[in-house]
Formats: sequence, C-alpha cells, structure tokens
Amino acid sequence: MAELLPLVIPLPAPAVRATLPAFCSAALNMWAWCGEPKPWTQESSKHCLDSTMRSTFIQILIVDWDIHHGQGIQYVFEDDPSILYFSWHRYEHAQFWPHLRDSDADVVGQGQGRGFTVNLPWNQVGMGNADYVAAFLHVLLPLAFEFDPELVLISAGFDSAIRDPEGQMQATPECFAHLTRLLQVLAGGRVCAVLEGGYHLESLSQSVCMMVQALLGDPTPPLSGPMVPCQSALESIQSVRAAQAPYWKSLQLQGATPRLSSGTHSLEGRPSTLLPAGLELKTAAAHAVSALSSLLDQLCLHPRSAVHTAAALTPLDAALVLPPDILHLEGSTQETQAWTRPHESLTQDQALTPLGQVLYLLDKILDGQVGSGIAATPAPTLNATLDVVIRRSLSHGTQRLFCVTMGQLDRPPDLANDGRSLWLHIGGKEATALSMFQVSMPLHGTTGGFLNCVLSLVLPLAYGYQPDLTLVVLGRTHGLQGPQPALLTALLQGPAGGRILVLVEEESTPKFAGVLAQVLHGEAPPSLGPFSVPFPEDMQALMYLRQQLEPQWKMLQVTAPS
Ligand SMILES: [Zn+2]
Repeated sequence: MAELLPLVIPLPAPAVRATLPAFCSAALNMWAWCGEPKPWTQESSKHCLDSTMRSTFIQILIVDWDIHHGQGIQYVFEDDPSILYFSWHRYEHAQFWPHLRDSDADVVGQGQGRGFTVNLPWNQVGMGNADYVAAFLHVLLPLAFEFDPELVLISAGFDSAIRDPEGQMQATPECFAHLTRLLQVLAGGRVCAVLEGGYHLESLSQSVCMMVQALLGDPTPPLSGPMVPCQSALESIQSVRAAQAPYWKSLQLQGATPRLSSGTHSLEGRPSTLLPAGLELKTAAAHAVSALSSLLDQLCLHPRSAVHTAAALTPLDAALVLPPDILHLEGSTQETQAWTRPHESLTQDQALTPLGQVLYLLDKILDGQVGSGIAATPAPTLNATLDVVIRRSLSHGTQRLFCVTMGQLDRPPDLANDGRSLWLHIGGKEATALSMFQVSMPLHGTTGGFLNCVLSLVLPLAYGYQPDLTLVVLGRTHGLQGPQPALLTALLQGPAGGRILVLVEEESTPKFAGVLAQVLHGEAPPSLGPFSVPFPEDMQALMYLRQQLEPQWKMLQVTAPS
C-alpha cells in the first residue's frame, strides 16, 4: 500500500515561530510551508501558491478548520474563482479576535470571486462533533463537489479541538479523522494538510494522529457524543447557505432560506463544560489532561483488522483488475444450508455456493478479522441473499445495521422496526418513510441528484445512526453511473468505521466490482464529472423525506428551529 502512505514533512523552525505570536493564520503557514525566510505579506503568499501549484492545478480548495479566521488567505484570493476558500472560525458576533466584519457569513468574495469565499462563523463556543460534521455535509461538501477541485489543501489547525483554550470547542480528536475522510473523496484523493498548531498539547497530538491515520486509510473511530447539531450551529449553517445560494446550484435547488441576523448572542446552548472564567490556562490544561486521558486510552484500543479488504468473487470474475493485496476468500460457511430457509431459490446447488462464500466473508467481517469486503451474487437470488445476510448479522450481535440498497431490490418482509437495522433504498418509485428506520428515495441518476441524495439524506442518516456494520447492495437496473456507487461507498466508510460489506449482482460485477474494491481498499473514487442539475421530482422527494425524518434524525437539519 505504498501509494497510500502520506508524505509527512515537518515544518521548518521559522514556521513554528511564525505561528506563535499571531495565532495560526493560514497565510502565515502557507508562507512557512513554502520555506520562504521572510515576513509574510499577501503578495508573498499569493506568489507562493502561484509558483508552487498553479502550474499543475487549476482549481484548488482550501479548507481552513483552524479556529481562527484566515483573513489573510481570504484577502489574497477573494477575487479569484479558481480558489475556493472555506473557513470556519470562532466569531461570537465579532466579539472574538480578529473582530472583523469580513469574517461573517455574508462576506462571499469580490468580483469574479464572489461565492468562492465561504465563511462559517461560530457564534458560540462549545461546537462539537455533530456541528462540525453537519457543516461539512450541508455547507462545504455540496460546494466542493460542484467546484470539483484538483487539489485540497487543509489549513490544519487543531485549536478547534476539545480542551484547546483558544478555541474552547468540544470536537474530539476522532472527529478530525472523519473530516479528513470526507475530504479524501475530492480531487482524486489529492489532499495536503498543513499543520498550523493548537494550544493543548495532548488534544493537538491526538487530533494530528487521527488525521494522519485517516490519510493512511485506517478505519475511523466512532464519534462520541450525541449527533445533534446545536441551535447556534444551525443558525450559522443556515446563514452561510443563504449567503452562498446565489452562486451555487446545489444550494439553490435545496431552497436555502435566509435567516435574519439578530446581531445578538443566542441564549440557547448546550451545558457548558468549558474553562471556568478567570482560571489560569495552565491550571485548566492540567485539569483537562485527566479528563482527556480516558479518551486517549479509548483511541489507543481501537481495533484494527488483520486484513483490510477481502473479496468473494466467482472464477468468472477473476479477470477483474483488483488491488494486488486484496485477499481472495474462497471458503464457505459450514451451516450455509441452514440459513437458506425460507428461501426456496437458495436451496439450488448453483445458489448455495455463492451464498456460502458471502456468509464466509460476512463472518470474517463480523469477527473483526477483515475490515471490509465485496461479494458477487446471482441476480435472481440477491434479495434472498440479502435477507440472510441481515438475519445472520443481527444474530451475531450487530446492534446497528445500516443497509443501503440500489436498483431492483425489495425490503425483506420480516425486517424488524426495532432500531437494530436502518433500511434505505435508493431508486424506489416514490419517497416513503414507513418509519425512521425504513426509508425509500427515488433517484434518476444525474450527478446533482445523486450528490443531493448522498449528502443531504444518506450521510446525515449514517452519521446520526453510527452503524457498526454497513451493507451496500447494488441490484439490477440501478441506473447509476460507474463512479456513483464508488463515491457512496467511499463516503460511508467514515460513519461505518470501515466495516462495509458490498454485495453486487453478477451482471454488474464486471463494471462495478473493480472500482468498488479499490474504494474499499482506500483509493479515492473516480470523479463524478460535471455537475448536472437534479430532476425536480428528485428534489421534491428529498425535501419531503427530510421534512418527515428531521424530527428523529437531527443531522438532516439545515435550518435552525425558530
Ligand atoms: Zn488558530
């Protein structure tokens, strides 16, 4: 997996010095990263980016997750439509440094660059995992996919992490693994993170570790805390979506509604466990170490499978080009016959062999020996096989099974509605939510419609549910383009902690199994191609489902309750 190893370059000493006195400006670090031993100016930063990357990359996305606004970078590229600059920052209605009106959500760039500066101001401290992930799903990623960058740069400051005295936010280290994973599906996986710092050393070191592990393709640890964005975060998300809607089709189609700026602090907030007023930072940091240590133990103990990815494909599929170190499994579960009831179609000899292989692979994933896998199944028995896979997964103790199906597939008639499984069918005839755990969504295959479905419905459900196993099933006549199932699978790896079983009906295997296996193994999905507008009926279905499901699944929200 040499091609997956990230290149880690320590910053030179001047870089460290440069970050200290003026907090962690992205612009300062861009200068430092390029190693120019002279004071930073806007011109030098622009020259730096121009000279090093513009000759290779035309469109660049800069994601500034440091807790301070990168106003320097904003000013440099505010009229440049080839740089999409996204920054979230502690703002508190301009009460926090640098106290600039230019840091607010309605500052969107100048001239041709309007819409390419994206400011997400946090008007309250205490933003946590749900708030950060929601900001990515509902603000950054829709714009990023429409922008289609060739390179992603992360201004990777970790003063936005828990216990940092500057940021006073509550996002835990593993959140940065998830944020990294969400960015890795862009630009063919070309992601460069530039370390900016942080002011709580343990939180900083763990967060950096999480980011690097994500770059290496390691499974993402589960996110702690309730996946419910707070009122203030939703207000910020709604404001920036409304400010950016004139410039981005993906937001216009979702009906981004403006929010009147009150100019005052929201009174709502989650119970604060932040630094007590007046407490010296050193003392506070000492208190924080003990609180964080249990979290650190948990991170160290996160299990990792001996085999990253395995495949159970029939000899007919052997011509497929798969990553060389994927393990081919040819075993069969001994009690396969017992699991064929009540499906007559599975009792035939030609059906028993592939079913046994699927169950063998499933068992390896359930036992933790294999991280993820892909298997082929004859189309006539795919429905029955899926039913068996679900029953077997639940009988082996799976507590939250997320099942995403595409194409001609029926919901198993006996599927329980007890919360241990979440069934989401993409490509149904109409939008239906039989319950919060059984949902069907029509889709007609445009890139815009597909992205809307994935970012606005599938991922919010996945992050809200936090499955311990995810099934992705590709049935007949799914109507999706090649890169689409691959992108969906790649994005689902985060909330599933990498535990994914992909089932592909045999006719689709030659076209899809190779790219799906590559994605499971950690490679970036291929580009979706140009953004194309969703069908109106797809948008209506999406709006309807979100309206139905928002009361139960809070990660779907894009507007703050009034
Ligand atoms: Zn900072």
